[in-house]
Amino acid sequence: MLTALILSVLAMTVIVGVRYLAVSGMFAWLTDRRLPGLYADRGGQIRKEIGWSLASAFIYAAPAGILAWGWQTHGWTRIYSDVTEHPLWWLPASVLVYLLLHDTWFYWTHRLMHRPSVYKRMHTVHHASRNPTAWAAMSFHPWESITGAILVPALVLLIPIHYGALLAVLLIMTIMGVTNHMGWELFPNWLVRGPAGRWLITASHHQRHHEKYLCNFGLYFRFWDRLCGTDRGLGEFSAVRSQPLPRS
Ligand SMILES: [Zn+2]
Ligand SMILES: [Zn+2]
Repeated sequence: MLTALILSVLAMTVIVGVRYLAVSGMFAWLTDRRLPGLYADRGGQIRKEIGWSLASAFIYAAPAGILAWGWQTHGWTRIYSDVTEHPLWWLPASVLVYLLLHDTWFYWTHRLMHRPSVYKRMHTVHHASRNPTAWAAMSFHPWESITGAILVPALVLLIPIHYGALLAVLLIMTIMGVTNHMGWELFPNWLVRGPAGRWLITASHHQRHHEKYLCNFGLYFRFWDRLCGTDRGLGEFSAVRSQPLPRS
């Protein structure tokens, strides 16, 4: 039993670590294609971002690995595999509910981490990347990683979700975590600066958090920032304007 549990945690560590390296690596490669040289002088920063992120991979994997083992052997969790077990509308609704709850958790824990006494202990590692790169997605101090690692495992114990919907949540979480730190805007202007963009968070919004610190705390949605008066709009990417031409 203990061996199976340890193997589950180790397997999950490999999955989370490889997922991070693959997705961050893919968007770093894309960055190099779109904006050659954007990360050129940031080798030292990137090495630190990768180191902290791989340490975070283990912290994220531990509760996930324990739960995956408990799900398979003891039927823990509300993850279901038969789509007819709940109404079909719950498939997309569960994705939205998970994202909204994750966003709420992130907003308030993130605000707490910006209180001076907590900031020093938990959040300076992440903000060491003043101008983050695609490798900064999981660049957190272990204390901050713990706050990030516990929410989704807690939710799967409480709120039913089909495993396909859970994969969708994890995919959105991974892609937004990477692209929000990439240093340029992936999404089109009509979306980012249009009506939907008033409620959605992409790189333009999170970049401003890394520049100005005490604003734009949200993760996926601008709802809490707007409600609490911490939304300072969208940032600009000077590097994008000064180096607009892709490599020939
Ligand atoms: Zn960040
Ligand atoms: Zn912060």
